[in-house]
Amino acid sequence: MSHPLLVLIAEAMVVYLLVLWAHSSRTKVGLAHFYALLGGLTAIMSWITDAGVSVEVSGTTFMVGSTVFYPALLLAVFVIYVFDGPRATRVAISTIITMAITMPLVAIVLHWQMTDDQAAMSYIPLPSIRTNVASVLTMVADLIFLALAWEFWARPRVNMHLWLRVFLTLLAVMWLDVMLFMTGAFLQEHNYWDLVKGALWSRFIICLFASPFLYVYLHWQRRSLESPLDATRPVLAIHQDMEDMRRELSLAQQEAEHHKQLGKQLEAQVYSDELTQIANRRFFDYTFDSEWKRALRNHQPLAVIICDIDHFKLYNDHYGHVQGDECLRTVAQAIRQSLFRPGDMVARYGGEEFVVLLPETELVDAIDIAERIRRTVQALAIEHLKSESLPQVTLSLGVAYCHPQSTQAPMSLVEHADKALYRAKNAGRNRVWPHLKKVTKAFMRIV
Ligand code: GH3
Ligand code: MG
Ligand code: MG
Repeated sequence: MSHPLLVLIAEAMVVYLLVLWAHSSRTKVGLAHFYALLGGLTAIMSWITDAGVSVEVSGTTFMVGSTVFYPALLLAVFVIYVFDGPRATRVAISTIITMAITMPLVAIVLHWQMTDDQAAMSYIPLPSIRTNVASVLTMVADLIFLALAWEFWARPRVNMHLWLRVFLTLLAVMWLDVMLFMTGAFLQEHNYWDLVKGALWSRFIICLFASPFLYVYLHWQRRSLESPLDATRPVLAIHQDMEDMRRELSLAQQEAEHHKQLGKQLEAQVYSDELTQIANRRFFDYTFDSEWKRALRNHQPLAVIICDIDHFKLYNDHYGHVQGDECLRTVAQAIRQSLFRPGDMVARYGGEEFVVLLPETELVDAIDIAERIRRTVQALAIEHLKSESLPQVTLSLGVAYCHPQSTQAPMSLVEHADKALYRAKNAGRNRVWPHLKKVTKAFMRIV
């Protein structure tokens, strides 16, 4: 082994150890000095690469920049990626990239300043824009690839031993670097393939030296931190996280949907009558209150019909409660089907009484609707042999109507409908009776 190669190896070891030491001391002093070291190493690497500093050993050219400093930076990103998570990795990568861009710019400015001083200029390498652009772009690609390769070989299906994972990741990144960088910087050179071959070979040797450092360091840190290697959960682990979060989100959405449905069901239960499946009195009270206010605001009339099954007690006594219930269901549905406007509603008011609410409806129209309900129920022709009006189930209906006034008690409208119903009963049942202060001849014609 020749002398320059030994120096090169010693130099590489010193730099690798420096990087790993700076990283290991982060638990005590933080990461700032580690980032500073990365910046410094990047500066030196750019400088000596532009200056073309290299070592020739048995036909293979070792560029010192990419033999010593580039792997040191790779090790740095490697360990910070493994132990410190994506954020710290981003800072490290930006430090390296920023320095890699700044250095050639500084060199260009210095050249421009010292055009007269030939001696001084020889100390400052003139950066090639092309080489430097290739270098920076390649470095970005390398560092992304590093994360992906490291994660790829960590998959349980691959089940690779740590030392092989370290070696393959380093080698893969280094070879990718050679291919990208050489192609970007030297593609047109006549000895392009020789350069590539030499670089691939030299990187392989460097990898043999650098990976044990990394392997030992990873082991040591894992022990001393007592954390698993992928505790920081980078790239693919973040993927997994996102997958988990997506799954959780979808579960939460399903649960929310379920609750919404449950809420709707509960609401329906709270506001509907269990026997007849139409609205119950609670819902009527609630709707009546808001319709009253709306009518008051808009100066619109509001009408109410109360429908009561005639001689229903006798029906129950004769046909039994079960059939009585069936009859209530049928009548309730018949009343509902007699209402056509979306705003109209029917509720079970209690026992065998139903209440119909008709917003924006004049008395004549309300009487019409009540008459339609009466006829519809009569047309059902449910046998009721004990009824004293007809041998079938019939309804008596009281109709009330008003233009709500703010001085008027809302419930008076329902009370008026109730009074009218009482009149209908007294007048012989199976009929519609409106609440009027004065019963006119015109009205009697309508009835
Ligand atoms: P009228 O013509 O004067 O209205 O006589 P009616 O017998 O219909 O009136 P009354 O108020 O005396 O009786 C109402 C009956 O309605 C009493 C009760 O047996 C019956 N009823 C009330 N709720 C239910 C119910 O949920 N199911 C059944 N099957 N019957 C009910
Ligand atoms: Mg009754
Ligand atoms: Mg009755």
